[in-house]
Amino acid sequence: MKEETRKCKNCEKDFVIEPEDFNFYAKIKVPAPTWCPECRQMRRMSFRNERNLFKRKCDKTGENIISVFSSNSPFIVYNRAYFDNDEFNPMEYGRDFDFSRPFFEQFAEFLKSVPLPTLSVGSAENCDYNNDVSRSKDCYLCSRTHDSNNMLYVYRGNKSRDCVDCMQAVKKSEFLYECVECATCNKGNFLYFSENCSNSNFLWNCKNCLDCFMCSNLRNKQYCFKNQELSREEYQKKIAEYYLGSFKNLEKAKEEFENFNQTAIRKYLNIANSQNCTGDNILNSKNAKMCFGVKSAENVKYLWDVMLYKNSMDCYSGGRNNELIYECTAVAGSYNCQFCVRAPDSHDIFYSTYVRNSKNIFGCTELRNKEYCILNKQYSKEDYEALKEKIKEHMKKTGEWGEFFPMNLSQFEYNTTIAQEYFPKTKEEVLVMGLRWADPDEKNYTITQTPKTMEDSIENVNEDILKEVLGCAHVGNCEHGCSTAFKIIPRELEFYKRMNLPLPRLCPNCRHYGRLGKLNPPKLWKGKCQCAGKQSESGIYKNLAEHHLHGDKHCPNEFETSYAPGRPEIVYCESCYQQEVY
Ligand SMILES: [Zn+2]
Ligand SMILES: [Zn+2]
Ligand SMILES: [Zn+2]
Ligand SMILES: [Zn+2]
Ligand SMILES: [Zn+2]
Repeated sequence: MKEETRKCKNCEKDFVIEPEDFNFYAKIKVPAPTWCPECRQMRRMSFRNERNLFKRKCDKTGENIISVFSSNSPFIVYNRAYFDNDEFNPMEYGRDFDFSRPFFEQFAEFLKSVPLPTLSVGSAENCDYNNDVSRSKDCYLCSRTHDSNNMLYVYRGNKSRDCVDCMQAVKKSEFLYECVECATCNKGNFLYFSENCSNSNFLWNCKNCLDCFMCSNLRNKQYCFKNQELSREEYQKKIAEYYLGSFKNLEKAKEEFENFNQTAIRKYLNIANSQNCTGDNILNSKNAKMCFGVKSAENVKYLWDVMLYKNSMDCYSGGRNNELIYECTAVAGSYNCQFCVRAPDSHDIFYSTYVRNSKNIFGCTELRNKEYCILNKQYSKEDYEALKEKIKEHMKKTGEWGEFFPMNLSQFEYNTTIAQEYFPKTKEEVLVMGLRWADPDEKNYTITQTPKTMEDSIENVNEDILKEVLGCAHVGNCEHGCSTAFKIIPRELEFYKRMNLPLPRLCPNCRHYGRLGKLNPPKLWKGKCQCAGKQSESGIYKNLAEHHLHGDKHCPNEFETSYAPGRPEIVYCESCYQQEVY
């Protein structure tokens, strides 16, 4: 097979299918895709609302519930209790396949006939206002958070506790505030891409640091201020100048750190202990191509945010030993699954959603421990195989075989899904695409405090604040799904008091987007090393070490980087970066 350039049927841009891709498609017996890799990623992501919650009624009991499905959703939504009580039998909704109609048209109708659980929350105590949370306790407005306690507004927490407003706080992280991509950190505010750091504020890419303040790229340090090592006394005197319990002071300190951090170097990509990989944020992987946020992956392409995948292409989010997965989201411990939304611990699953611990399933939804089912109807092994092949042939004729579900089959409004975070669209664009858009819930509250009227210092805030409706500083004039108003909950106030932090001035959605902005986009650009010999090209960063490869001359290395051209960061190649940071 030779490399081929095709035009994406969605965005009409050219994309390349490489020989190795054709080999994979042949192995799993699917035709080559007609959409480009980015459009395919967007399409999968449009099937996942991870963080947006709505108030609505349970379609079974009429009670008020919290849901990932808006009240305008055309799907049937039941409270979780119904599903936990074993009342629910998905096979009751089984139907025959109709060869006079396309598959997707039938599947769309079928999905609308089967009730959905309002939220995905499992084995969790006091976790009513969360989605995709399990084995956890006392969490609030968290998403994709597991085995954790007392986490508030956390996206992707794992085995951690007492963190507020964090994105990816994992491996026994504790008492963190506004941190992004941190592991095994505790008592820290504004820590980014750091590991094993404690008792620190404003760190960027630091490891094994204790008592540090406004530092970048440090390893195994204590009492550092702006990367300068101080005595214990000097350090304490220095940080005493910063009272972060005041909102005004905190904003000034954030800006100061931002400016300081622009003088630090960045590695062109974050790829570690990996061979023959392209993409960014890749760890312990081999032959991972155009992958972003993957760990322990081998022979894979176009995967985002996954771990432990082998011989797979085109996935978003998932973990635990997967092989031969194509065009799926949320697959874990599965083998040979294609075109699925959530199919954990399963094998040979095709065109299905929310299937668990099952095998040999085609076009089903919400099944558990089943095999040989099509449209939730039971067949014998022989009948299943024969019918599956016949539907496949039918789908080849209709042009459906080999394509993921069309986006209008999603249970979610586009702007409530993760697709909106990475492929933002306006309401008009979404409606033109024939997709749904969620307008904010009707406001039935009055804002009682605005950022202007709020107390500057946490010291002056008391429990009365819990009764107030706070206005978000973005007042809806942003692209963050601003909820315009928010409240403080008691455990949150306790946290701010304990950590000596001021109340936030933004709503949880706007805060989430602020953290998202700390990550590089999942894209690559051509770039070259900015090490000019003894210092960075701009002269802002002075090298600490001799760079043996190029001496006093400009480093000749060019690369693909996730730092877009024109960005202010000083970007070094692997070798120059390693000389400076180790
Ligand atoms: Zn495209
Ligand atoms: Zn807001
Ligand atoms: Zn905003
Ligand atoms: Zn270099
Ligand atoms: Zn260099």
